[in-house]
Amino acid sequence: MNCPACGVEHLPAPAGTPAVSGGPRPCPYGGAPYAGLRAGHDRIFFGRWRSTEANSLDVRKARNQLNKLLNDIAGALEPERLPASRKDLNKAFEAMHTAELGEDGPETLLYMDHALSYAHRVIGDLLHEKGAPPHAPGDFAAWYDAPEVPFREDW
Ligand SMILES: [Zn+2]
Repeated sequence: MNCPACGVEHLPAPAGTPAVSGGPRPCPYGGAPYAGLRAGHDRIFFGRWRSTEANSLDVRKARNQLNKLLNDIAGALEPERLPASRKDLNKAFEAMHTAELGEDGPETLLYMDHALSYAHRVIGDLLHEKGAPPHAPGDFAAWYDAPEVPFREDW
């Protein structure tokens, strides 16, 4: 079920805490700028496609989510004057294009990883423009059912 606040499917409460029944559903992204982009990034970041048990369906799903995220970022970037971010976004699109040429092998995953990394950078630029702190996916890990996904500290 998609969260009404950010539009993305995440856990109804952080892992290990009881879900609140009734009342408004809590959203960890609520109230912060670009909630949809941040949530869209994190559901990919913590997605099954990056785990060792991923199958081709997981990869295809992540690819669709990545394409949607990049298009959403492009829309958010449209009114901003951020030429460097636009370049990064173009690199993300190029990485996705390369990923789509390959089979679902390790190279495809690598290019998808690159695209996600560029997307994260552009979201960070957008947040900076709004005077908000950078987006740290690790802060939201508990909201996703992804204990198997390796966490990369350099993001
Ligand atoms: Zn939410």
